Amino acid sequence: MNPEFQKAKSLLVKIEEAGFEAYFVGGSVRDDILGKTIADVDIATSALPEEIKGIFSKTIDIGLEHGTVAVLHEGIPYEITTFRAEAEYKDFRRPSEVFFIRSLNEDLGRRDFTMNAIAMDAKGALIDPFHGVDDIHRNVIQTVGNAEERFKEDALRMMRAVRFHSQLSFEISEDTMDALIRNVHLLEHIAVERKLAEFEKLLSGANINGGIRVLAESGLFHYLPGLQPYMQQLIQFAVIEKAALHIEERWALLLHLLKQDAREAQLFLKSWRLPGKRIKTILSILSWLDVRLQSAWQPLNLYHCGYQTAISVEKLFNILTGSPAQTHLEEVIDQYQALPMKSKNELLVSGNDLMQWLNKQAGAWLKTDLQSIEEAIIQKKLPNDKDSIKEWLMKCNQSSE
Ligand code: ATP
Ligand code: MG
Repeated sequence: MNPEFQKAKSLLVKIEEAGFEAYFVGGSVRDDILGKTIADVDIATSALPEEIKGIFSKTIDIGLEHGTVAVLHEGIPYEITTFRAEAEYKDFRRPSEVFFIRSLNEDLGRRDFTMNAIAMDAKGALIDPFHGVDDIHRNVIQTVGNAEERFKEDALRMMRAVRFHSQLSFEISEDTMDALIRNVHLLEHIAVERKLAEFEKLLSGANINGGIRVLAESGLFHYLPGLQPYMQQLIQFAVIEKAALHIEERWALLLHLLKQDAREAQLFLKSWRLPGKRIKTILSILSWLDVRLQSAWQPLNLYHCGYQTAISVEKLFNILTGSPAQTHLEEVIDQYQALPMKSKNELLVSGNDLMQWLNKQAGAWLKTDLQSIEEAIIQKKLPNDKDSIKEWLMKCNQSSE
């Protein structure tokens, strides 16, 4: 048994000793069968949330209405969810109401894909009523039961099929794909936040290009924020090798291909509800990439751009121009290291020095002068020491008077 399951096994045993059933379920069982490192170990049980809280001393209510309680065990929080069936689905979305049930098979039956509908008991035996293990070995993604019905119940499952295609490089079965193509329009009923979570997993996948191609060819992209007019650009995005890129660089590359101006790009990212800080990072990569495509790095650009962004920009530059990646990156790193100063804080004079030397009150001039000093230092026209800066400043002021 996988060490991650080993660690959590005593939880299953304790629930069983209290007279209930409990199993490992979902992604961790799938990834274990695949021989991948497993992320969060999720547990499903016949016990109700209140009953779980009666069994364990350290619990956190994280989604009681959905039947989920977290139990803290050896410092790790485990999500324990009561077997459930879902009430009728409305508006092609996940139902708001759930029914707790006592049957594992029914709980597995409401899960999305066969590979995600496998349970493992405390002895390591698999319960696999929908032949998910076979599908994992055949590398196939298919819905539990009729795909058409399952997508109509919750249209997000179509996005999930594509993100698993990207993460696992499994093929989507013919029936599941046919139903997906027929029902893409239902995705419009799904909240952006849920689409974003799946899209980002798709963007991070090893088979991202396969995933993007399915989005484009199936028509699903029509129902994703801001992507509707961009089928050709998505296809273009899907042929670029991006193994070396992290997620923000992948977003920036996509945006670069959309050829939007800065304002449009910002609205695009906002429409995806990305957090402001991430939007800033992506937009910064995007705009410096434009600068880089026009000319080689100048010290001043490199300084204002900053190290992390410069590396991201250079990686994208190399990809877009077909340049040998490593040599260019090393050059940029060397150029950056050679900057006389990496940030304003390293400036050896302050606003107070300037006011004293020039015998002037604080004012807008101060910012302008400090900026001129900073830029002269970066361009190596001036060394970063107090005496040289004073001399330079006095000379500049004389000549401007
Ligand atoms: P990951 O490794 O990315 O977390 P996962 O399979 O664990 O993948 P989750 O989103 O964490 O995916 O969901 C946990 C489990 O809950 C899934 O394996 C699946 O059994 C079930 N599930 C999640 N979302 C849905 C859905 N929209 N419809 C039906 N079942 C779902
Ligand atoms: Mg999971």
